[in-house]
Amino acid sequence: NVVFPKPPQTRLIAVANQKGGVGKTTTAVNLAAALAENGAQVLVIDMDPQGNASTALGAQRTHDMATTYDVIEGRIGIGQAKRPSTVFPTLDLVPASIDLSGTELEVANLPERNLLLNRALSQFLAESQVHYDYVIVDCPPSLGLLVLNAMCAVTEVLIPVQAEYYALEGLQQLLHTIELVQENYNRSLIVSTMLITMYDRRTLLSREVYDEVKEHYPQIVLKTTIPRSVKISEAPSFGESIISYDPRGAGAISYSEAALEIAERSKRVLNMISKKQSSW
Ligand code: ADP
Ligand code: MG
Repeated sequence: NVVFPKPPQTRLIAVANQKGGVGKTTTAVNLAAALAENGAQVLVIDMDPQGNASTALGAQRTHDMATTYDVIEGRIGIGQAKRPSTVFPTLDLVPASIDLSGTELEVANLPERNLLLNRALSQFLAESQVHYDYVIVDCPPSLGLLVLNAMCAVTEVLIPVQAEYYALEGLQQLLHTIELVQENYNRSLIVSTMLITMYDRRTLLSREVYDEVKEHYPQIVLKTTIPRSVKISEAPSFGESIISYDPRGAGAISYSEAALEIAERSKRVLNMISKKQSSW
């Protein structure tokens, strides 16, 4: 492994797209693994009640497992909820469970209900003995309160775009939500990254989706695309990331290359964030 360039400060990235099945969780997990494998300290926060990222990173479900639910509702801090992943020693996880689906209603009357993750994460990062290079938040497929909490806690959104018909449908709505968050709650938020997933080299459609995203978002979309691969979808059932499950395969190579691109953009992205902040 090479050591990727380290970001000068912690990068806080929410992986979001209100469409389900576009590769959010797969991307969160495998980018985290690729970054960790190449020298970064990484924390994944699972904000999806489905808990797929937690399973992929080796969290065993027990009834007394501390989760994002407890963190959001203020019962414990992230420091108490986080645990090591099984995929890489420098990759930690705050797991989620189905309880998290009740949060929306349970905190509905709190005045600061959008900022619950923000508060918990700021406190954790300020107190943590370990310096994290990346915090990656895996979002559920909605634009509800959990996603709002994620967007208020980070400075970057990474949008996975599946190479398929109607890939860009819904993107406007997502970008509009991000603008509302920028205006009302989080002035440092930017869309730093788009990543084309399930790319099929044999189809013209995949190429067209890439070209269209590239045309509209030339600075944001990664050059690397993630191929459609059965190995990528199998890895989680073995409690592994694609990086360890099939290290020489196209899936591992593409997620590692995407992770390197993300690492190499750190300075530019952090500049964009501070420009965004001062533009208000
Ligand atoms: P989301 O989190 O956006 O709902 P997932 O990451 O769970 O999406 O992916 C949806 C499904 O597609 C899962 O079964 C996953 O294993 C599969 N998948 C994701 N990325 C790929 C890929 N590059 N190639 C093949 N299957 C993939
Ligand atoms: Mg998911």
